[in-house]
Amino acid sequence: MTELVTIHRLADAEQDLSRAAEILRDGGLVVFPTETVYGLGGDARRDASAKKIYAAKGRPSDNPLIIHVATPEDAEPYAFTCDLYYKLARAFLPGPLTIILPKKDTIPLSTTGGLDTVAVRCPSHPVAHRLLEKCGFPVAAPSANRSGSPSPTCAAHALADLDGKVDLIIDGGDCEIGLESTIVKIDGDSLTLLRPGAITPDALSLVCPTVKIADAVLGQLKEGEKVLSPGMKYKHYAPSSPLVLLDGAPDAVLRFLQSEQATKECAILCYDEEIPLLKQKHLFPVGVKEDLAAHGKTLFHALREADATGVEVIYAHLPPKEGLGLALYNRMIRAAAHTVRTIDN
Ligand code: AMP
Ligand code: MG
Repeated sequence: MTELVTIHRLADAEQDLSRAAEILRDGGLVVFPTETVYGLGGDARRDASAKKIYAAKGRPSDNPLIIHVATPEDAEPYAFTCDLYYKLARAFLPGPLTIILPKKDTIPLSTTGGLDTVAVRCPSHPVAHRLLEKCGFPVAAPSANRSGSPSPTCAAHALADLDGKVDLIIDGGDCEIGLESTIVKIDGDSLTLLRPGAITPDALSLVCPTVKIADAVLGQLKEGEKVLSPGMKYKHYAPSSPLVLLDGAPDAVLRFLQSEQATKECAILCYDEEIPLLKQKHLFPVGVKEDLAAHGKTLFHALREADATGVEVIYAHLPPKEGLGLALYNRMIRAAAHTVRTIDN
């Protein structure tokens, strides 16, 4: 049985969060809100909890889990930290940045998918933060979706995917960012970006001048290619109707969408300013064109809704690769299995 509790005010949530920490300490699973997406938490020190997480998600067990701690210093017993870790922490934590460090033996290999490194994150969401304070131990938490479906940005998504598979779901409202954390690996004095997120390469480079971008962030992996971040090799966020990303001049793309709507059942993730110019059926606005933060916040919800229509094709605009656009591009290009259609005129 999965229990659902809703938190409106942190001050009223002490009892619920103490109980959630107790469930985690006893080896149970708790879904909790963060500023990025909802997490599916278990005690990161326990082999058995990691296995339960993989089973609940239906996720391959070589895909490592991120450990969540209340403060950057709380990672000390579990990871070998360094100056650059604390520089990044001062600039960005608590917040949507995950940092890969060499792991200590206190974290079992089942949590890190067999790797000798561990991914550390300090979420800024007040509910997540208070829960982690109460735990006093690291909580391993991947996104709280079944493997292959979009990450959950509200409790209803997590419930739809994990009802009956977790002990408790904490509803803390919609996630502010809506895209998973930025992941970086520290290599000496430089950083490698493994997954783009709300902390952009430009922001990272203010703290660390050398930021490399892993090939898998933008490109399509070849069969059997070695990846730095095992999660990148799995097909992710894939709707069951094909998603096609449209590239081209705005008016040409709009004309294409209008003609497609006239001839077939399609769902469209559109900009707000296109709403009056398109048929309303199966239309999912993601914010005005320039507001990439709004697109990030609505993307996964819109994908779930578009997918639920069961139409033959879903269209969306190809995002830019700059700034926050890189995170959107990375998620959408994979959801679309790299299908981009260029509209000429
Ligand atoms: P999720 O928890 O669903 O946001 O996915 C976690 C992502 O973090 C996966 O794509 C993993 O590949 C990546 N990750 C976690 N731990 C490590 C690690 N030790 N080294 C590299 N990537 C990691
Ligand atoms: Mg995930």
